[in-house]
Amino acid sequence: MKKQFITLLISTTFLTSAFSQKVIQRDPIIENMVMEVNNDSLKSHILKLVSFGTRSTLSTTTDPKRGIGAARNWVLSRFQEFAKQSEGRMTAKIDSWTLKPDGKRIDTDIEMGNVIATLKGTDPNDDRIFLVSGHIDSRVSNVMNRTADAPGANDDGSGTAAVIELARVMAKAKFPATVIFLVVSGEEQGLLGADHFASQAFEEKWNIEGILNNDIMGSNNSNETNIIDNTRVRIFSEGLPFFDLDKKAVSIRNFGQENDGKARTLARYAKEVGERYVDNLEVVMVYRNDRFLRGGDHTPFVQKGFPAVRITEMNENYEHQHQDLRTEKGIKFGDVPEAMDFEYLRKNTAMNLATLSNLAKAPATVQNLTIDTKSLTNSTTLFWQAPKTGKVKGYYVLMRETYQPFWQKKIFTTKNGIVLPYSKDHYFFAVQAVSEDGNESLPVLPKVGM
Ligand SMILES: [Zn+2]
Repeated sequence: MKKQFITLLISTTFLTSAFSQKVIQRDPIIENMVMEVNNDSLKSHILKLVSFGTRSTLSTTTDPKRGIGAARNWVLSRFQEFAKQSEGRMTAKIDSWTLKPDGKRIDTDIEMGNVIATLKGTDPNDDRIFLVSGHIDSRVSNVMNRTADAPGANDDGSGTAAVIELARVMAKAKFPATVIFLVVSGEEQGLLGADHFASQAFEEKWNIEGILNNDIMGSNNSNETNIIDNTRVRIFSEGLPFFDLDKKAVSIRNFGQENDGKARTLARYAKEVGERYVDNLEVVMVYRNDRFLRGGDHTPFVQKGFPAVRITEMNENYEHQHQDLRTEKGIKFGDVPEAMDFEYLRKNTAMNLATLSNLAKAPATVQNLTIDTKSLTNSTTLFWQAPKTGKVKGYYVLMRETYQPFWQKKIFTTKNGIVLPYSKDHYFFAVQAVSEDGNESLPVLPKVGM
């Protein structure tokens, strides 16, 4: 009897601590879309991608059945099919260009292509863009091998299938902001497709406020250490910014902002919102831009100042990445669909959907958020202006102690300012605009001064 009581006490304590912050309701519109993300659908996208034999960036672009050209055309046809559900808001195209040999991983003239579906926002005054990406190209052990079978089921069939599935489910939805579904080529040859896209966006000053890059997200185990886990996914975000670090360094150093860059803020948001909508999934923050010895398509974006993160499975099995299809000492090598976990891929795709939809439904970020530092006080005064676009129900004022990774308090107000009985010296603060349906904008941290 006594033992039972103790068990009950422990579980109550656990519930209080684990769920005390999770009072925010799910938006039923987003919840319904999350439920539409489907294992079988994801699996069918991957089997189709694998059926093109190889999707090496160097492979044929003219064969109707084999190679990256046929694979790109198939993705385009899927996007065009989904677009029919969008009442004209979704358009799709292949952005093509030719690359000359670069002395590195391009050895002859190569026809490149990024497949892009754009779901135009419903508010003509809202110029925000949110973007989700995966790379369609695949490889075997030798990155210059253009003919061998390179199924690329997980790298990056998983990310590409996720982007296709998101376009399928989200095509019908109405968001004030624009969402871009991007399937790039040339990742394995040096992030070439992402760099091409990011360069254009930079030159044309597109207002891309969040990029979720999905690369290797559908396998649940590690080789060597034999861990199996389909309840956690990693999100990588840069600490000190690649872009304009010199200009930002003084403020980062003086106010301890090294953990609150745009990419880190986006990663924290994806963790909160992803876990709100997807059960049995923990989004694990990794405080670095990428893994050792590896690159990814988010990097050309952060190098140009866009907030971009990388989403990748928790554990990696290197027997199934960048490998020739073969059996050695009883081990089957190769990036094949049999090595994947489609339920895990569903959860990771749903986490993307929740994050993207909540961002695209939310009002724009608040403007001119300022923290009053005129005098020495033990309280904190913040004030801000309404966002440029979007209907606002109110604002969340976020706070956390400076050594904490996640926001600890979320205070709702309908005013454009707040005085809090907490010292600005002990805490970080941020403000989010909140829509009528409860969707929060990305948090903005205050400028210091008056
Ligand atoms: Zn990859």
